[in-house]
Amino acid sequence: MKRTGVFYHETCSENAYDMLLMSVKEGFQALEKENFLSQPNIPLFESEPASEELILSVHTKDMLESVRRSGYYEASLYSVGGMVQATEKVLTNEIDNAFVFVGVGGHHASRTSYWGGCFLNPMAIAITKVRESLGVKRFAIVDTDTHHADGTRAIFKDDGNILHICFCGGYFWNFRNTTQSKTKVCLSHVNSDEEFIEKLKEEIPPRIKEFKPELLYWVCGLDTHKDSYGTRMITERCYPKLAQIIKETADEFSNGKLVVETYSNAPAHVTEYVNPRIVDCLAELGKFQ
Ligand SMILES: [Zn+2]
Ligand SMILES: [Zn+2]
Repeated sequence: MKRTGVFYHETCSENAYDMLLMSVKEGFQALEKENFLSQPNIPLFESEPASEELILSVHTKDMLESVRRSGYYEASLYSVGGMVQATEKVLTNEIDNAFVFVGVGGHHASRTSYWGGCFLNPMAIAITKVRESLGVKRFAIVDTDTHHADGTRAIFKDDGNILHICFCGGYFWNFRNTTQSKTKVCLSHVNSDEEFIEKLKEEIPPRIKEFKPELLYWVCGLDTHKDSYGTRMITERCYPKLAQIIKETADEFSNGKLVVETYSNAPAHVTEYVNPRIVDCLAELGKFQ
C-alpha cells in the first residue's frame, strides 16, 4: 500500500466557487463515508493558507489585490496552501502521493489575469516554491479538464522543464495562450469513456517516460462528465480508470510521485462516486478493484 495524503480545508467547500466547483463538500464527505480517512496510510492534512509573499512569487501585486476583492480570496489562499503542502510532502517522501481538494480552479490563472472560476494558480505557485526550497526542477502536468489550461500554459510557455499536456480539444486555442512545442501539448477531445481511456493510455505514458519528471501532477477536472457543464459525454466510471493509468505512469516514470488536484466541477453524484475510487487507487487499498 502507498501513503496517500488527503489535503482539505473546510473553507474550500464553504467558500468555494460553487457555480463551477459545485460538489467539494460531498466529494470530501464521500471519503469519510468510506472510512478512508481513518486508514493509517491515508493521513488527512488540513490545508494552510498561503502567504502573500508566496503568491507574489508568481502573480503580480495588481492581480493579488484584484483577487482579494473577488470574494474568493480565502478559498484561493487555502487551495494554494494545500497544493504547496502536498507537493512538499510528496517530494520529501513524507507521503507517496496526494489528493488535494481546492475550492477554486487554477488553470485559467496566469501571472497577471484570471477567469473561469480560477483566481490564483496553485500548481504554478507550488512549483515555484519547491524549485526554490528543494531544488526540484522538472514537472509534468496532465490536465484532463475539458477546457484549455491557458493560465498555466502562459506561465510556463518558455519553461522546458515543464511538460504541460491538456486534453482541451482545441477549445480557445486560437486566441488564448496557445503556445505549442515539444513540452506544451494540446490534445483533441474524446467522445466516450473508451476513447478517453485509450487516448490517455496512448498519449501519456510514452510522453512521461521520455520527459522524466521528478513529480507528476494530474488536474482532475470533472467537467467532461455528461451531467456537468462541459460538452463531453463521459460517465463517472471513466475517471477511476484514468486514475489507474496516471498512477501506473507515475509509479514507472516519476518514482511514484503524483499529486492530484481535484476540481469537483461536476454534480455531487459524480464526485461521490469518483473520489473514493481515485483515493483507493492512489493508496492501493483495493476496496474497489
Ligand atoms: Zn473546465
Ligand atoms: Zn490545451
